[in-house]
Amino acid sequence: MIRVNENYLKLKSSYLFSEIAQRVSVYQKANPEVQITRLGIGDVTRELPKACTEAFHKAVNEMSDIGTFRGYGPEQGYDFLREKVAQFDYQARNADISADEIFISDGAKCDTGNIQELFSNDITIAVPDPVYPVYVDTNVMAGRTSDFEDGRYGGLVYLECTEKNGFVPDLPKQKVDLIYLCFPNNPTGATISREQLKKWVDYAKKEKALILYDAAYVAFINDKSLPQSIYEIEGARDVAVEFRSYSKTCGFTGTRCAYTVIPKSCMVYDRNGNAYPLHGFWNRRHTTKFNGVSYPVQRAAEAIYIGDGPKQVQELIDYYMTNAKMIRDRMTLLGYVCTGGINSPYIWINTKTDSWEFFDTLLKKAHVVTTPGAGFGKCGNGYIRISAFNMHDKVEKALDAISAALK
Ligand code: PLP
Repeated sequence: MIRVNENYLKLKSSYLFSEIAQRVSVYQKANPEVQITRLGIGDVTRELPKACTEAFHKAVNEMSDIGTFRGYGPEQGYDFLREKVAQFDYQARNADISADEIFISDGAKCDTGNIQELFSNDITIAVPDPVYPVYVDTNVMAGRTSDFEDGRYGGLVYLECTEKNGFVPDLPKQKVDLIYLCFPNNPTGATISREQLKKWVDYAKKEKALILYDAAYVAFINDKSLPQSIYEIEGARDVAVEFRSYSKTCGFTGTRCAYTVIPKSCMVYDRNGNAYPLHGFWNRRHTTKFNGVSYPVQRAAEAIYIGDGPKQVQELIDYYMTNAKMIRDRMTLLGYVCTGGINSPYIWINTKTDSWEFFDTLLKKAHVVTTPGAGFGKCGNGYIRISAFNMHDKVEKALDAISAALK
């Protein structure tokens, strides 16, 4: 008899975005004439930067010529991309990261989801609340939690992110071994200061813990005094892994490219306290289970670092951040307390009521889809997330409709 991994039975049956899709579909069926604007799921709407598509086309042409055709590439990614990442994303910010510490992949979702398999099953894990669901669900699947009860899985340490702490979690009271942090944050849009991040790095050093730092939205940081990488913090090389993605930076959600940084000095321990470099384990996993991102996609990603690439990427980011400002300004004017939208494409709004109730009001009265904060965890209840990923005219229209609906 083929038996199922029963940990899958613990997963909450309705994933947040399917529940949203279901409610939208029911409403749309009943009201086919209504035009719905989607400011919920964080998917980009604008085309790839020209520099990327030109590099993409050129690389595809290389693949059609016997002289330049390429088969399997290095699993860790081509040197041309790893070297640009190390130089422009790290060394330019005085973060000591070298090309061979970068692992190119097809997504930060896969990487943040897969990395947990490198750790023992009996570690204590801290996750933010509200949380990007992948961190939690992948640990549930691996059997590191007990059942879902009263809005939380048993066995995890939830780091509460609230208005009171500015949505930056305090250090846990109990000892934890693995810590997920995400800044700029999805869903709250909050950022972390150097001093706050230093506290986490110091904690991890003291406890021999590991920080998994998801910086998928780093490109949206306007305030250049904020850390863009955890490796700008002294000591982080020894205790942190960083994830980044081209998805939101340059519209690669459908093109797929990302990377994970594992410094060679970052250690993990066996039950006797012997230390091993994590780099070797991730390299082993990556080369065993992954065969690399396609050559044209890596060339397209490389293009953001050279020639007109950086300027075009900035223009794209500025476009979405104009939306973010419009959303934040309007919701503030309507009397709602907003977080995010300044250094992040998400605006986290205190609805002063239940998340799903507010979601339904916006859907039915303004025909706008948002994301109910409750879907990201207990501390998300009472909030909704509005995404800045859409076209200016649609955002403007949605905001007018929201203003009218909430009057
Ligand atoms: N990490 C966070 C916090 C995200 O919000 C997302 C996408 O929404 C991802 C990772 C996934 O990125 P990718 O498209 O590279 O898989």
